[in-house]
Amino acid sequence: MDVSYDDVVRWIRAFAAEVGTNKEQLTELDAAIGDGDHGINMDRGMSAVLGKVDAGPQEDIGALLKAVGMTLVSTVGGAGGPLYGTLFMQMGTALSGKAVIGLDDWTAALDAAVSGVQARGKAEPGDKTMIDALIPGRDALKSALVGGASFEDALKRSADAAGQGMRDTVPLVAKKGRASYLGERSAGHQDPGATSSHLLLEAAAETWAA
Ligand code: ADP
Ligand code: MG
Repeated sequence: MDVSYDDVVRWIRAFAAEVGTNKEQLTELDAAIGDGDHGINMDRGMSAVLGKVDAGPQEDIGALLKAVGMTLVSTVGGAGGPLYGTLFMQMGTALSGKAVIGLDDWTAALDAAVSGVQARGKAEPGDKTMIDALIPGRDALKSALVGGASFEDALKRSADAAGQGMRDTVPLVAKKGRASYLGERSAGHQDPGATSSHLLLEAAAETWAA
């Protein structure tokens, strides 16, 4: 299986739809340990991204993802916008000039995305952030690639690992972002950013397997 430019567009649309469907949940999770705007922020950003996507095609997959990232940075405030903006821009740089991508490209793209988010936000695993869903998702892709798994299977494993990482944020005490202001009181709640990052990888698995 190869993923084309149009498939990447379908993934972006699917993520935007998932963010829309889960807007209330993301907002409630953020209300518990932050300021209650993560769902609204991501929904506003992804609506702007759909506007950009609908405005016309980009040169290639890399250019498309860079445009998505730049749109998020310019339309979403707070921590989430710049971090998701960085994620997509780094993916775009990793996939520069590509018209189709395979499992190796996708693994490299997610690896670059994680490095970019970490360089920008300085979060480590266990800090109760989006990194706690993205790193297991990336690591599952890497082992699937090394183990010779199919692209479909690798995507499923990546989404499942991100889901586990998301659930594992519940007992953690936040060390980064607004939730860290709560200290010990941040424990017992699922991290909103880890939840949206799981949606991102799940949308890829569901869209590209179909
Ligand atoms: P804000 O915190 O500015 O209101 P959002 O509510 O949109 O922004 O996003 C909050 C999410 O951002 C958190 O749940 C967390 O996953 C993520 N986050 C916050 N700070 C960092 C960081 N330094 N590194 C990685 N992710 C972070
Ligand atoms: Mg917030």
